[in-house]
Amino acid sequence: MILRLEIGSVLKKFEIIHLRRGVYLLAAWATGLLALASFVLVSSGSAQTPPPPAASGPVYTVQPGDSLWDIAARFGVSLPDLMAANSGMNADALSVGAQLVIPGLEGLQGQLTTRSVAYGDSLTTLARRYNTTPDTLVRLNHLTSPADLFPGSILVILEPGETPPQPPRILLHSGQTLLEAAAASGVNPWTLAISNALTATWQALPGDSLHLPTSTTASGPPIALPVDLAAVQLLPEPFVQGKGAEVIITGTQEMSLSGSLAGHIFPFFPREGSYVGLQGLHALMEPGLYTLGIHGTLADGTPLAFSQAVLVKDGEYVYDPVLAVSPETIDPAVTKPEEAEWAALAATATPEKLWDGKFTSPVPPDYTDCWPSRYGNRRSFNGSAYTYFHSGLDFCGNVGTEIYAPAAGRVVFTGPLTVRGNATMIDHGWGVYSGYMHQSEIKVNVGDLVTPGQLIGLIGGTGRVTGPHLHWELWVGGVQVDPMDFLTGAFP
Ligand SMILES: [Zn+2]
Repeated sequence: MILRLEIGSVLKKFEIIHLRRGVYLLAAWATGLLALASFVLVSSGSAQTPPPPAASGPVYTVQPGDSLWDIAARFGVSLPDLMAANSGMNADALSVGAQLVIPGLEGLQGQLTTRSVAYGDSLTTLARRYNTTPDTLVRLNHLTSPADLFPGSILVILEPGETPPQPPRILLHSGQTLLEAAAASGVNPWTLAISNALTATWQALPGDSLHLPTSTTASGPPIALPVDLAAVQLLPEPFVQGKGAEVIITGTQEMSLSGSLAGHIFPFFPREGSYVGLQGLHALMEPGLYTLGIHGTLADGTPLAFSQAVLVKDGEYVYDPVLAVSPETIDPAVTKPEEAEWAALAATATPEKLWDGKFTSPVPPDYTDCWPSRYGNRRSFNGSAYTYFHSGLDFCGNVGTEIYAPAAGRVVFTGPLTVRGNATMIDHGWGVYSGYMHQSEIKVNVGDLVTPGQLIGLIGGTGRVTGPHLHWELWVGGVQVDPMDFLTGAFP
């Protein structure tokens, strides 16, 4: 419980925190009294020996691999300012463990350190965790918008002494009060409020992610949370252009979830106590920050919504030399309708996941490691801008070389296309599809269920090609991604 007493203009706050049966801790502080106490200290100090000069700002301890330039960039100060604030320092031989004063943070004292931001963190939750104020975090990190706090970004904090353990968090969803969230999580609402530096339960707002008091969770039985944002996993982190993005949400309750990322809406599917959402990221999308939204409805009908900026990194694809092709090869009147027809085949996510683990090679062992062209290569045709890219992985082969299903799936398309030649598309479920082009012969029919290693066709040179090869595509959430990732690892 919280008692507030107003005495004159000085607000004194007494908090009586119920810790254990019969044990009460009385915590009291008064901002006015603190100010008075420091005034007394200063005035009594001046009568005695002068105090040692106060440090002109918080300090940073040089870490292995740091350069002065890195440090200046990290704290948003200019190199000359940093050097001026540390006049005795040898800039050429920066020693690990040296203490550097960071200028421009007057009024703050202490040891500066860095932490990584996780999905679900906001200025409010970070300030609570590191026992500081949102304003201080804004100053330390030169934050200009909430998008500056994306998962994996580096946050500068003032060392809180010992690092507090990362308590589990819960998301207060739309329409839910802190009292309801506390009841659902099996904790005392006042303990929940106090451990989140809230003086009243109504101060918690929908979308707020609250720390669960660790003393409660450590001693009590495991708590079944609707959504634990601390346990939202992003793979890879950061996301990479041209790769599949995987979002894993831990949740034991039955719920329906969908995600939104870079203009795509994608579903989540249940998998052993969690929900998995997959979305391909286009090879040509601009690297940078995108909003990852998670929306849903819990079993009891409660709506759930959370969004945060996430980073999409450059895929570092290579630039092919300008290719000379006959103009009809890139005539939009031919290529666009076929592209739309082909993409429509891979647009929906089938709820049944048919494959498991890594994909196997779609070609015989002799050709498995022979790739005339990799996915993602930037392309210019006849001197155009580099607005084209290679949408698949090419395998060497001769007319008649066998093509195998790399994983279980259902055939959703077979047939001749102008640009792609004899083509096959296989649906593996959960929005993952694989495509096979330029075949001399197709050995499956629409509706067939294929098993890994099954013969599905023969390599050829049909469609617009310069020679026989297999152009192999992998689609995730309606976007072509790097097929190599399916051969080297299990996705998801
Ligand atoms: Zn190709």
